Amino acid sequence: MKILKFGGTSVGSVEALRNVKAIIEKEFNKNEPLIVVCSALSGITNALLSASEEALKQNDFSEILKSAEEKHYQIISELLPRTAQNPLLMMVKVSFNEIEDILFSVKNLGELSDRVKDRLLAYGEQMSGKIVSVFLQSENFPAVFQDSRELIATDSHFGNANVDSKNTNENLKNWKLENQIYVVTGFIANDKNSDTTTLGRGGSDYTAAILGSGLKADEIQIWTDVDGFLTADPRLVKNAFSQPELSYQEAMEMSYFGAKVIYPPTMIPAIESQIPIYIKNTFKPENSGTLIHQKSEISKGLIKGIVSIEKTCLINITGNGMIGMKGFSGRLFNALAKYDVNIILITQASSEHSISFVVFFDDEKKAEKAICEEFDFEISSNKIDEPQFDNELSILSVVGENMKKTRGISGKFFSALGKNGINIIAIAQGSSELNISAVIERNELSKALNVVHDSLLLSQVKTFNVMFAGTGNIGKELFRQLDREQKNLEENHQIKINVVGISNSREMKIFDNPEFVFDLNNLSINSQKANLEEFINLISSKNLPNLVFVDNTSSEDVVSHYPQFFENNISIVTCNKKGNSSAYTQYSKFKRLAKKNNVNFLYETNVGAGLPIIKTLNDLWISGDEILKIEAILSGTISYIFNNYVGDKTFAEVVRTAQELGYTEPDPRDDLNGMDFSRKMLILGREIGLPLEMSDVNIKDFLPEACLKADSIPSFYEELEKHESYFSSFKNEAENSGRKLRLIGILEDGKINIEVKIVDSNHPFFSLSGSDNIISFTTSRYKTTPLVVKGPGAGAEVTAAGVFADLVRVTAQ
Ligand code: ADP
Ligand code: ASP
Ligand code: MG
Repeated sequence: MKILKFGGTSVGSVEALRNVKAIIEKEFNKNEPLIVVCSALSGITNALLSASEEALKQNDFSEILKSAEEKHYQIISELLPRTAQNPLLMMVKVSFNEIEDILFSVKNLGELSDRVKDRLLAYGEQMSGKIVSVFLQSENFPAVFQDSRELIATDSHFGNANVDSKNTNENLKNWKLENQIYVVTGFIANDKNSDTTTLGRGGSDYTAAILGSGLKADEIQIWTDVDGFLTADPRLVKNAFSQPELSYQEAMEMSYFGAKVIYPPTMIPAIESQIPIYIKNTFKPENSGTLIHQKSEISKGLIKGIVSIEKTCLINITGNGMIGMKGFSGRLFNALAKYDVNIILITQASSEHSISFVVFFDDEKKAEKAICEEFDFEISSNKIDEPQFDNELSILSVVGENMKKTRGISGKFFSALGKNGINIIAIAQGSSELNISAVIERNELSKALNVVHDSLLLSQVKTFNVMFAGTGNIGKELFRQLDREQKNLEENHQIKINVVGISNSREMKIFDNPEFVFDLNNLSINSQKANLEEFINLISSKNLPNLVFVDNTSSEDVVSHYPQFFENNISIVTCNKKGNSSAYTQYSKFKRLAKKNNVNFLYETNVGAGLPIIKTLNDLWISGDEILKIEAILSGTISYIFNNYVGDKTFAEVVRTAQELGYTEPDPRDDLNGMDFSRKMLILGREIGLPLEMSDVNIKDFLPEACLKADSIPSFYEELEKHESYFSSFKNEAENSGRKLRLIGILEDGKINIEVKIVDSNHPFFSLSGSDNIISFTTSRYKTTPLVVKGPGAGAEVTAAGVFADLVRVTAQ
């Protein structure tokens, strides 16, 4: 026999109820009874509760009741044939009249007991059960309505009654079942005096398990509005995904620590009778959902979920008088129990004079009363300090049965939090080692959930929230590439990149909801005036996980904000050389800040665009290789000019063509004077630990002084023409001996020299073509044959691709 439970949303609309019918049709085999447990229609329990609160406050509650009543009418009239509608419409009318009567008494008396509340709430389940049973009958199923109050016995703890298993099982044993469908009310039960009780919010799941256990069912199916038990609350963690299976203990721990998808006590009767529980989606019944059962051999994965309790209060009791005070904890916990305060977790310091524990936010006042009453004497005689309450906190827990066999999970958990600047206020590990919990500030919960979920391998997809600066050639090209590759990134590399903000020197835009849309035109819609300071503050205040700033500008001003990014736990990926090639103190400060804040600072494109130069050098350096010499051609512009200065055109003409093709800076002298080259060499030197400054770079000017000093670009070209014989003498010297002109940078013995050299065909730089870069590392390991990296070292496409690769490297950490 099977028990099927349908939650509020599963019975809360015509579409859902039609799905319910299809599911029942599949599950009912006519050879045995089928039990269908129903919750109240979605929103009805809450509506009844808030109407009762309004009544107690002497407020008008009629609007709330009216819309709840309407919801029932609307479903009945859309779902059922006319002939079947009338009795149900009558039933709803009568129910709401009775509800109204009760609420008027509440309003008149100014009193609302838990007992009255339970009686009120029961109408929700009663009405839905009746609607479902009549609906099934109208579809020709042999269905009957069954009020669970005739079956489930409890004590009189209204609002959260304890099940009297003995009497309940007795009732269930005596229940004469036929091969038909029983539509049973969830959530409600009866105490000894036949007063209505409820099993706690979300208690219809529990009803299903109680019936399952008492009737020795083969399985319990919980039908809801998500694809099973997910790795996190899908409303808070977009990347949450369904777990195919969980042990009872894992499911219990996760639901106790906040996963609303199943009510925690549900697992108890299921464990006792070893009944498997399936959680399935009414709206996508074909999906396999989650199976909860006894710990299985095949239960894979270390961590099964990240859960949270949003509103909690940490209570701290301290006092020197606590030392050696016998029975202190016993008295404390008894007092709390007397006031019905649940302790979620305890974090006792090793010193005996303090104890901290966490309770639900709603229990704070009760806890305060319990403590002050119990320890009145100790507090007034200063043995114990006034207890402290911090109610702005949340609990975040990682759950998984296999964690106990594995070391290092807590380390990963806490470092993921630390890396994102999330402050941990207290920690606790359950003695079962089934969960590790951290108490954190509530406003950081959503960020914390997402980073922990992503970094503890739970996410099949890792999300990065990226802010972009610079909308020039590289910025545009990067967006084109990201747009083209987004599907591939997500499907094959499990990486998702969200755009959280875009800025250029004029305007900026911050996206309220990070978008997976790479379109720079979005910047101009409702944009603000650019202000980097504000850009950082606004984005940081959103508390997003895994933030990265991509600097595609060449602006000094943007660089001056790098420290702020690092201090806000934002990684930086940049092709802007200005940051690393200005003063050495700045370069080392950036590195230090990135390290201190546990974020990445990646700038592969500072040298040779997308070529793997810095990474290669770092790998050699870190692995202990000794760098003896670095020789390089790192100016694509000059390579182009030399490679095209072969006789048919003057030097000036070649430079002009290079400029027209966009290979040069606006003023070609910025390339020809070796400045850009020097910056790159300087960065390489610093990467191997040399504290070099620009003044340490020795550039042997290739251009005659008159060319360098010309007062405009046209006169610069005139000077170049005038000096053609100077250039051609170089060229002829090279050509006549079968050699070539190359501008080469050399880093050796801690010194950098950049000069034009004439190389012969044995030189590895001889055959360089077009605007390519080449770099050769002579090291202790690569001594006879240096390690060479060669390829296109300039241009928007390869630079953007290098930035892209760095971005993905951040994601891979
Ligand atoms: P029902 O009305 O069907 O009983 P609930 O609203 O009680 O449904 O529970 C389902 C909801 O629980 C989901 O819609 C989801 O938003 C929420 N939820 C919170 N945490 C989780 C989780 N870890 N897995 C699945 N759902 C979760
Ligand atoms: N209707 C009840 C509630 O909303 C019980 C349930 O849905 O499980 O809490
Ligand atoms: Mg529920």
